[in-house]
Amino acid sequence: MIHRVDDRLREEARRYRLVFACPDCVSFDPEGGGCSLGFPNEMHRDPSLEARDEVVFCKAFELG
Ligand code: SF4
Repeated sequence: MIHRVDDRLREEARRYRLVFACPDCVSFDPEGGGCSLGFPNEMHRDPSLEARDEVVFCKAFELG
């Protein structure tokens, strides 16, 4: 799911410590950088919202 990133989302992400990217997902393989479920994850790996105007959420994200 593609979601627009604006200052409000950045502020709420900081305030509520929102996590959504692969490094915080139970299925992330930190050694290889891949997804243990086999999903292509290049667009889900970066947790920073600062230098982007949209984010692609992974529907299979599960907090690790
Ligand atoms: S399930 Fe999605 S968020 Fe989790 S590691 Fe795989 S691609 Fe990343």
